[in-house]
Amino acid sequence: MEALTYARVHEHLGKLKLKRVATVLDRVAEDAAKGEIPYVEFLDKLLEEEVATRLTRTVEMRTKLARFPFIKTMDRFDFKFQPSIDERLVRELATLRFIANAENVIFLGPPGVGKTHLAIALGLAAIAQGQHVYFLSAGELTNLLSEQMPARLAALCKPKLLIIDEMGYLPFDRPAANFLFQLVGRRYERGSIMLTSNKTYGEWGDIFSDQVLAAAILDRLLHHSVTISIRGESYRLKDKRKGGVFQAEEVRAKT
Ligand code: ADP
Ligand code: MG
Repeated sequence: MEALTYARVHEHLGKLKLKRVATVLDRVAEDAAKGEIPYVEFLDKLLEEEVATRLTRTVEMRTKLARFPFIKTMDRFDFKFQPSIDERLVRELATLRFIANAENVIFLGPPGVGKTHLAIALGLAAIAQGQHVYFLSAGELTNLLSEQMPARLAALCKPKLLIIDEMGYLPFDRPAANFLFQLVGRRYERGSIMLTSNKTYGEWGDIFSDQVLAAAILDRLLHHSVTISIRGESYRLKDKRKGGVFQAEEVRAKT
């Protein structure tokens, strides 16, 4: 390539913000010259590099924006350890059809059985498919209340998948329950909510200290939804049990 042309190509790549093409141009052009690769194939290689790099960057950015408390994927989940989970159903959820249909997913079960892990794994799968995901705990949700509510509500309606973790550990007072009711109503049939809870649906009245409001929230939440009830041992305690150092106090301390 002539020096002038080369300089101009780089200038254009800069203007078009094709950073990755600029980086790999020399190598790909050299390979193409050596291999006598057709022009279209050469262009195809360059564009593929750019698209792949942008996708990786988008996924990284959206993963950060989702604010997951930890990063765990589906292939790190040991389904054999938790036989009460219908693996086929979880794999079906991983196709993310539920997001396209604005359906909700609820994981119920005691602490340590993998509710948050599975919610994050599905969230990561959604991000890899180009979706916006946002994760927050129920406690964080109630903390948002002191600030401007309509703006908060609008923001929480934007992501295609909203994950609310740990419903039931802390009580919702009246304004918090009202906020959740509005949120569930606004997202109803528009955007998926994924929720984890240590409480059965029958106990939700206790979370809100209001049976009627609890019923109204559940009514909308569960209309188009999948519930995965996990019964089993805490994964966190499995090594302790194996080692024989398990004590009831430890369970209480963790829950
Ligand atoms: P929960 O939200 O139900 O309290 P977590 O999803 O936070 O439980 O799981 C607790 C820890 O144990 C996490 O580090 C999680 O990755 C891990 N874990 C739970 N279940 C499994 C499993 N079946 N296979 C692999 N890791 C698991
Ligand atoms: Mg959890």
